[in-house]
Amino acid sequence: MTEIYKKYLKIQQEHVDAFVLMRLGDFYEIMGPKAQEAAPILDMTLTKRGVGVDEHGVPMIGFPSCTADVNIGKLLTVRDVVVDDGDGELKLIKQPEKAKPLNDHNSRAHALLSASSAARWLTCPPSAVAAEAYPNQDTDFTKEGTLAHEVAELFARHPDINTADLVAELGGADREMIDCAIEYRAYIEEQKKDNDALVLLEQRVDFSPWVPDGFGTCDCIIIQGDTLTIIDYKYGVGVAVSAKDNPQMKLYALGALNDYGIAYDVKKIEMHIFQPRINNVSADSLTVDELMAWAEKTVKPIAQKAAKGKGTYQPSEHCKFCPHAGKCRALTKLCTEYVETHSLRVAVPVLAPHEVAEVLAMEPSINLWLKRVKDQAMTTMMNGGEVPGWKIVEGRQGLRKWSDELKVVETLKAAGFNWEDFTKTELLSPAAMDKAIGKKKVAELLPDFIERATGAPVIAPESDKRPVFNRLAEAQKDFE
Ligand code: SF4
Repeated sequence: MTEIYKKYLKIQQEHVDAFVLMRLGDFYEIMGPKAQEAAPILDMTLTKRGVGVDEHGVPMIGFPSCTADVNIGKLLTVRDVVVDDGDGELKLIKQPEKAKPLNDHNSRAHALLSASSAARWLTCPPSAVAAEAYPNQDTDFTKEGTLAHEVAELFARHPDINTADLVAELGGADREMIDCAIEYRAYIEEQKKDNDALVLLEQRVDFSPWVPDGFGTCDCIIIQGDTLTIIDYKYGVGVAVSAKDNPQMKLYALGALNDYGIAYDVKKIEMHIFQPRINNVSADSLTVDELMAWAEKTVKPIAQKAAKGKGTYQPSEHCKFCPHAGKCRALTKLCTEYVETHSLRVAVPVLAPHEVAEVLAMEPSINLWLKRVKDQAMTTMMNGGEVPGWKIVEGRQGLRKWSDELKVVETLKAAGFNWEDFTKTELLSPAAMDKAIGKKKVAELLPDFIERATGAPVIAPESDKRPVFNRLAEAQKDFE
């Protein structure tokens, strides 16, 4: 690879969100994936620059230095600009409005066929267009996840960052979030085997050659030797996410390969899920040939259909992440047809054990379907629509609470009560303690004082990894 492009990539790596302008003679050039983004902003035609890797070169646009002011002005409407005039000092020109935090994850654009929803639209292609009819709803979990990613990115990007500065910039980050971000940073470092490794954080990648308008933001990309590594940071605790054959990860890898494969001789892909709150680290790998075969034979034809809302509606475990579930006829059919089928078996008026098993197997689908239909009906009526025979009423009132705590204290004191009479100090629960002082400290200082009540018996499918509940042993305990 040419020295110029090596230097360019290094600057881009340090200013991953900015356009990098490198002066070469009387021209400024933007190279690599950001050139593709900048070309329509500057209304310029994309060309290629040879960078000594193969005969194709990398995307590039260039303009004379006398037009720099105008063109930098246009680029600043989208991103900060870093200028390398070759004098050893980089000039960082910030966008005019800097009210947003430097790594605002909330303001990111959203793709119809996103990598994060790929498992769903690859199974049920029309779900992508169907889901577009529903507004994106932020929940406490999604807000927590967004904040956790911002904290993780800041730590990974700025190894010397002061925790107090970080908390001031991103209000709401608790100790557990910061500890997890530190573990994430260490995990990235562990994966770097080469001092010259290219490390890109929160990098937008473009997989549109296979998925119409397909792009996504990858938490971490590392390119070293002939290996491209994708790391996805997960902050949730509900499900241990597996990297095995994970379509989200594979689409990120495809995008990274599309953007950087031209400059690096990548042969192998590694995909890692790092989910620190439940100690889940999962990894999978495949060759570039295997990834390309999947992209061409599986992704491309399905994505073409999905982008047009075509294909077959296919209920599956992915329905639980589908905004359309509350109105979906295919899901309704799956749940109601089943009941109808059973109503035909009238010869014996009692369910046989195998029929009980069949009903239990339907539980997740039917529960999901009922809940989502109910939520959808609520949304319809709250927005002034009608659901024949149903209305919205006020539910049970909430618990009583003080409207002015200060006044309550003053009143009680004036009435002769002591502070201890009306307040109590409580030890935090283990979960709250994790957040307050950090999981590591809890594990270091308090492991001997944590206990759990035995779980009550629950029904689970035979495939469940937990051992069968030992009824006799539990009954014995009752007599001891
Ligand atoms: S609810 Fe399920 S079947 Fe219906 S569109 Fe969504 S993913 Fe497809």
